[in-house]
Amino acid sequence: MIQLQDLFFQKFISKAEVKGAVNDVSLKINKDYKEKSPVFLIVLNGAFFFGADIIKKFDGTCEMSFVKVTSYEGTESKGAVSTVMGLDTTLKNRDVIIVEDIVDSGNTIEAILKMLKQEQVKSCKIATMFYKPLAFKKNYLIDYVGMEIENDFIVGYGLDYNELGRNLSGIYKLKPRKMKNIVLFGPPGAGKGTQAEYLKLKYNLVHISTGDVFRYNIKNETELGILAKSYMDNGDLVPDEVTIEMLKAEVEKNNDAQGFIFDGFPRTHSQASALDSFLAEKGEGINGMIALEVDENLLVERLLKRGETSGRADDQDESKIRNRFNEYKTKTAVLKVYYEDQNKYFGIQGVGSIEEVTERLCKVIDNL
Ligand code: AMP
Repeated sequence: MIQLQDLFFQKFISKAEVKGAVNDVSLKINKDYKEKSPVFLIVLNGAFFFGADIIKKFDGTCEMSFVKVTSYEGTESKGAVSTVMGLDTTLKNRDVIIVEDIVDSGNTIEAILKMLKQEQVKSCKIATMFYKPLAFKKNYLIDYVGMEIENDFIVGYGLDYNELGRNLSGIYKLKPRKMKNIVLFGPPGAGKGTQAEYLKLKYNLVHISTGDVFRYNIKNETELGILAKSYMDNGDLVPDEVTIEMLKAEVEKNNDAQGFIFDGFPRTHSQASALDSFLAEKGEGINGMIALEVDENLLVERLLKRGETSGRADDQDESKIRNRFNEYKTKTAVLKVYYEDQNKYFGIQGVGSIEEVTERLCKVIDNL
């Protein structure tokens, strides 16, 4: 398995199979164009390797030319095709072979055929390394096909994900993520725990509140509980090594989960990167961090009120509450930037009725 930016890809087609398919296409083209002097029109960037390989195997005289078009962004075909680099020679009366890396929706091929229509070429055929018959929505005949594949998103042998992966000699396909993993974020008292109770049922996710796990351990006087107690009672963060190990153990307990709501974790930069690498080892990742944004003064009021009934030492004393905010501001708030850099940060207004806030959260989660 390999990782390109935020996505994981698994081995799909070997280098040897690619080579075999290229050979087969080359043999056919050699046969069909024996007496002709074709122009190979290579569609950049993806068909760069395939084009080079079939041209190297072509026995007669030939020329090559290039066009560059784009239609993909990430793993989605945008539909509209734009020409980045057009034809630089006339193809009038020439036998043209369009060389594509992959034909899926057919939009790119259509745009190139349109380009050629004005050129009055003598003949035009299409060669593609990969073809997705299930995605193809047009009526053109694809003359030479290296391999047919299903609707997988693939990289390698010239094909990319956000420009990465082109240099891989074998083909890798996108590994579908099985989990939906959400970080519920916000200062103490923002309502993360309350909201998580609704969300875990609605989305069938496992809710892990590191605060709750610590409190459970304190109550049961475990080694972990004894270690965490002094930090918690003062409103300080428990050291990263301890918290990260505990979190991993909680995740491992739920191997069949469809995803997690992380509540109160990560709280530091090193917790966030530990979580990313830990999930990456499973081919998973964080889909999004959703932050409940609430004004601090309102939160102090809320927490003192909760302290009347929660029995939590850290809820009962304003100086401890202020210390928790201080920990939040100095160590945790930076995580906004960490997730923003990955386009995974979603801030929502955390003030309102419980139902209103749930609704705002669901709107974000449904689109993750
Ligand atoms: P919470 O219930 O999320 O407000 O957490 C209560 C306390 O548990 C915090 O003030 C910390 O002392 C400790 N704690 C919970 N989660 C973490 C974490 N991710 N890292 C360090 N300490 C934590």
